[in-house]
Amino acid sequence: MLTKTQFHPPSADEPLCVSGRGLEILNDPWLNKGTSFSAEERTTLGLCGLLPPHVSDIEEQEQRVMENYRRKSDPLEKFIFLCSLHDRNVTLFYRVLLDNLMEMTPIIYTPTVGFACQNFGHIYRRNRGMYLSLHDKGHIPEVLANWPSDDVDIIVISDGSRILGLGDLGANGMGIPIGKLALYVAGAGLHPWRTLPILLDVGTNNEELLNDPLYLGITHQRITKKEFYEIADEFVEAATKRWPHVLIQWEDFTNDKAFPLLERYRHKVLSFNDDIQGTGAVALAGLLGAMRIKQETLADQRIVFFGAGSAAIGIADMICAGMVEESGLTLEEARQRFWLLDSQGLVTRQRTPGLQEHKLPYARDEAEAVSLHEVVRRVKPTALIGVSGQPGTFDEKVIREMHEHCSQPIVFALSNPTVKSECTARDVYHWTRGNAIFASGSPFDPVRVGGKVLVPGQGNNMFIFPGVGLGAVACGAKKITDGMFFTAAKTLAHMVTEGELQTGTVYPDLSKIRQISLAIATAVCRQAYEEDLATYEEPEDIREYVRDCMYHPQYRPYEPD
Ligand code: NAD
Repeated sequence: MLTKTQFHPPSADEPLCVSGRGLEILNDPWLNKGTSFSAEERTTLGLCGLLPPHVSDIEEQEQRVMENYRRKSDPLEKFIFLCSLHDRNVTLFYRVLLDNLMEMTPIIYTPTVGFACQNFGHIYRRNRGMYLSLHDKGHIPEVLANWPSDDVDIIVISDGSRILGLGDLGANGMGIPIGKLALYVAGAGLHPWRTLPILLDVGTNNEELLNDPLYLGITHQRITKKEFYEIADEFVEAATKRWPHVLIQWEDFTNDKAFPLLERYRHKVLSFNDDIQGTGAVALAGLLGAMRIKQETLADQRIVFFGAGSAAIGIADMICAGMVEESGLTLEEARQRFWLLDSQGLVTRQRTPGLQEHKLPYARDEAEAVSLHEVVRRVKPTALIGVSGQPGTFDEKVIREMHEHCSQPIVFALSNPTVKSECTARDVYHWTRGNAIFASGSPFDPVRVGGKVLVPGQGNNMFIFPGVGLGAVACGAKKITDGMFFTAAKTLAHMVTEGELQTGTVYPDLSKIRQISLAIATAVCRQAYEEDLATYEEPEDIREYVRDCMYHPQYRPYEPD
């Protein structure tokens, strides 16, 4: 049923009534403007004498921050510096992040966030978001009631069980929900004070962490599946009761939980799994870009996946959907164009029973093969997608074998962080004499090959999830469908310019992220109305409405309460 209300966060020039005074305001990172408080605000809010006399504008503050930031050479130090800035002044943090997104994304997200998570207990400074632990079972509504805001649009939640490609990091995984939500804010203008990162601490099996005296999680082995779903159910019920329109994004769960969690809730509440669905959409967009370069169709492709987990299945499902829509293949015919390898080799029907459920639709009816090289020789793929977390596995032998049968091989080495990538851009370009169409999960620098500069695309989920999230929140969607992700992928693929394709890159420039997210959010919103899943009244101009929903980091004028 449609309600009159729309998603309507306050606009940037709306004055904010502030009840505190003096240091109380300066010590609140959500209210603090530092040296930017005007003379009038300093008088009315009791700030006189507590700040240096000069009044800065936000640009000047940004200049000061960047001078200090760039003085640091160690990425982890930069990460800590940005966290401290957030702890002091949230508006300035987002302003700096948005204006320097390309430079800072590798710090606040992959690859540096991975290192930050590994060291979380050692670099911890101050609380952010919420921790729900095993000990809170039975009391989760009371714990969630401690969150100070009644307006939460989006929660990113992880149990830290599979952080990037780094494995089980337990409660240290909190860096990921925090980082991801910062990207939602910077990338699509979700409102920072309406986001909530949550770490579901259900123990860890990482012995190193359990023995680390500075580890901040519970020192307990991970719990049984039954107990895990009891606590997950309790969380979903409590969160959607307190914030009925909230979007829940499941993040970095091991795939034995990622798939069941997605299926358990996707039809009941507004939720999705970025590792599965977001990755699927971003990879499909990259492949559609490669099709524009090669002037081929998806159905022409033979695709080998190295890795058969959350990301692989998400990508394969999305490409299948693309093949079905584009070429009218049946789903079964589309699936015949895929070969998946996991840690035991080619996924075949001979391995059933015992094969994990998510792999079954792609199990091949053919002879087993253990090595990637063997599969590449047999299949003669046109596309090779790495989502295994196994660095260096796309070696010279594999890539040269592939190139022998395919003049422009598509190689997407998506494992994160950089050290986990299946290969480097430089190696692939050199082994294929610059003919490969390459994309990676973490960024690689452009490479010069034979007088031409090739630009590796970054298949960053950030192209997709912020726009999908904003679109869903803006229309009060009841759920997020595959159709919405498919729409997002096509929208992204259309945003790559001919000039970008000529440099070999299949993704648009990430610095255009706000424009990209606006286009994706608009498309997702439109899809929600078409699928009759939106709960807010349809605006006359969806694009304009979505644009007005976006947060821009600037100081609001303050008035005493
Ligand atoms: P996952 O744990 O669900 O799956 C990993 C898969 O790799 C499993 O099927 C496993 O069997 C397989 N594998 C492990 N060792 C192997 C080996 N030696 N040979 C062949 N296969 C092997 O993890 P996931 O969520 O699918 O993520 C995998 C990787 O993809 C991670 O590094 C992650 O950071 C990356 N990823 C990248 C993006 C992106 O770039 N946009 C998005 C999501 C995930």
